[in-house]
Parts: sequence; C-alpha cells; structure tokens
Amino acid sequence: MLIRGGRLVDTAGDRPGDLRVEGERIAETGPLLEPHDREEVVDASGLIVVPGGIDAHTHLQLPVGKTKVSDDFRTGTAAAAIGGTTTVIDYVTAYRGEDPLAALATWRRWAEPAAIDVGLHMTFTEAVAEATVAACVEQGVTSFKCYMAYPETLQVDDGVILDVLRAAGRHGGLVTVHAENGSAIQALRRQALAEGRTGVFEHSLTRPAALEAEAVSRAAVLAELAGTPLYVVHLSSAPALAAVRAARQRGVEILAETCPQYLRLGPELLQRSDGENFVCTPPLRDPWHQEELWQGLADGGVHTVATDHCPFTVADRRAGLAGRSSGWADFTEIPGGLPGIETRLALVWEGVTAGRLSVRDWVRLCAEAPAKTFGLWPRKGSLAPGSDADVVLWDPSLRQGLDAEDLHMRTDHSPYAGQTVTGWPALVLSRGRVVARAGRFVGEAGWGRYLPRQPRAGAIG
Ligand code: MN
Repeated sequence: MLIRGGRLVDTAGDRPGDLRVEGERIAETGPLLEPHDREEVVDASGLIVVPGGIDAHTHLQLPVGKTKVSDDFRTGTAAAAIGGTTTVIDYVTAYRGEDPLAALATWRRWAEPAAIDVGLHMTFTEAVAEATVAACVEQGVTSFKCYMAYPETLQVDDGVILDVLRAAGRHGGLVTVHAENGSAIQALRRQALAEGRTGVFEHSLTRPAALEAEAVSRAAVLAELAGTPLYVVHLSSAPALAAVRAARQRGVEILAETCPQYLRLGPELLQRSDGENFVCTPPLRDPWHQEELWQGLADGGVHTVATDHCPFTVADRRAGLAGRSSGWADFTEIPGGLPGIETRLALVWEGVTAGRLSVRDWVRLCAEAPAKTFGLWPRKGSLAPGSDADVVLWDPSLRQGLDAEDLHMRTDHSPYAGQTVTGWPALVLSRGRVVARAGRFVGEAGWGRYLPRQPRAGAIG
C-alpha cells in the first residue's frame, strides 16, 4: 500500500511525504514515491500520517470485587483501533495469594482475541521473589506496578516497593506506581463514614491532591535509593506534578503519565445525580490542576498520556463492589474507573487545536514516548522503515460525537456525553492491515499479537 500526499509526523519531524507499507512493515517514506504495479494507493491529502497510538495503561477483562470491567480484549481493542490506538499495554494483576506467572498466563490467554497488539505489565500486591521478576522479564514483561493505595486489596508497603525497584532495576525493568497515600486515605474514609458522610462526592474529598503529591515524593526517594527508573501512572494534580519536577531536578529518573479525564473533567461532576459514573482514582480535580497538567504535557513535565481505561456499565456501578441488588451502600463501594480507550487521541488532539501542543508533541505523548519508555521502540511509535506498519491517517476535520452510542467501548455511559470533538482517524492500520475506517471497525478478533518487550540495556536479566 502506498499512502500518498499526506503530512508525516513522527520523531523524524513534520513534513509532507508518502509512506509505503509492505506486508506488516513500513518499507519506506519519502517526498514523492511512485506506486508499484498493482499497489493500492491511498490518497492522504489533507490528512496527517502518524504512528499508531500506544495506550500504556489499560484494564481489560479485569475482575474488580464482585464485578469486572465491561470491556474484554476483543471489544476493548476494537474500540481502541477505531480511535487510532494500535497497541495497548494492559496491567496483569496478581491478587494476593495468586502466582504472578499464573496470572500472566491467564492474561495472555484473555488477550488472544485482541484486534491490535498487546503488551502486558505485571502488578504485584505483596512481596515477591527476585526470580519472579526475572521470569516476567524473560517473558517480555519488563514493567511492574506497585499500588501505594487500596490497603485492603492492592497496596504494598515501602519495603516491598523498594525490593521491587531493586529487583526490576537489576533485570532491566521499570516500576510504575499508583501514587496516593492509601493509609491516610483510609483514615479519611473511616472518618467520613463515621460521620455519616456516605455520598459520591466524599470520594473526592477523601483523596486530596496533597496525598498524591506525598506518595510521588516518597516513591521518588525509593527509586533514587534503588537507582531504578520510576513511572507514575495517572498523575492528576498540580502538587503531584510539582513533586515529579522536584525529583527530576535532583537527578531522579522519574516519568509521569496523565489521562484525558484529568485534563478535561472536574470534581463537580460527582455532585450530579449520575455522579457515581465519574468515580475514578485519583479523583477528578479542579480546573487549575488541569491547566498545570497541560503545561506539563507541553514542557515535558508529563511524559505520556494513557487512559487507565477501566469501564463499567451503569448497572454494575450501581451494584457496586459488593454486588448489592439494592445498590452500593456508601461511596467506598463504588467501582472506580472510566472508559477512554477509544477517545484518547482525539481528546489530546484538542490540545493541538487549542494551541497548547504541537502535532509533534501529540505524537510524542501518545505514541513515541510510551514506545521508548516501555521497550517497544523502534518497532512501535515510529514511521521509520522496518517499524511495524501501525499507521493512523488522522483527519483534523472529522467531527465525532462522544455520547456512548457514538462510541464502541462496551459501556452504556460516556464521561463526555453531549460533547463532540473535531479530529478523528480516517484510516487505521495495524501491522499493515486496515482495522478501522472513519469510525468503523473493519479488523478482526485475534489479529493482535502478544508483544514481548525489551529490558533496558546493561541489566543482568
Ligand atoms: Mn489503572
């Protein structure tokens, strides 16, 4: 396939040009490529040709309490493809008492129906042997997650985090953290419940930004001691970003990810009658935090945009983590998480339209930086010859509604209901195969492959 007359944007720059796909790879790019015999020619005039998006933070098929997220790998990756994402890195969660390698095997099986390529991170919820970390790296899982929140189910203490950082560092891995001070949050939650404050908005009040910033600072110190790079997932607030900047200033290798919901949605949404549909963790923050995060995206303070895609249906949210037919009893029972795997590129593109980001920034945040950070570069996130032909032809004039019925994620509500965006993929290729065309999925379940990821050079693994 020859994609002609587009505007190519990737790490090599922003220039007019053509791109040739042969089989599953990009064969060449150049100013004026001649079509070969019987080659399919796609007219990309007026379109921006970019590497497929990489969503480095998703939860597909994940069991959560008595419920589970509503997208599986088949539906979630089809929705991702429609929105221009051609790789997801999903979080395996090894719950306490579970063998992480058995959990990894389960996720790899779950991921088989994926329509686009899938990498996996590993989440540890208790102390782990270094041999387990090494075995994960061996299977191409080179990033690990520790939760500093949710003491009942997921949180590990600082000693475990330090051990995981050290082990990961030795084997060329990277550690990601959910940075919120879970013990302090638990105290605030207990107090709220004791005072009869049980409503949705308490979710926001009991998770203040200061406790996110504190956890970022603490994790940065642990990473500094271990000498292992740290990646903070779903950074949501200005004080937490300030903590990232301060750590980096003194030489800590710390990277931060944010998500579109933290750039666009505010906590007042939790006060609506359907407020439970806006519960996510960390909680939505006031607009001044959003401004700081946009600034961070432009100046490098924030390194990537992922989604933390974690959708539930309205009914599942209402039933809550305890699965009550009468509905959740208080805010601590509401499953947290928002749908977003389909809308990430378009929502970050709004920053380009608004003049906050360049097109290059957009590509860097949504594809290139996640590829480089998570051991997929240059196979993914690049338009260079030899890279996988994961290519998006972005139409900056295409209008797209954001109601649940306009989108393809398997949920019946949308955090952006009633809104539209301008800018959406006209054509999406996954390893050379067309998987989406102007809002329609035309790929196939099972096309996606498992992506073993590279460890960092210089490690013993
Ligand atoms: Mn998450």
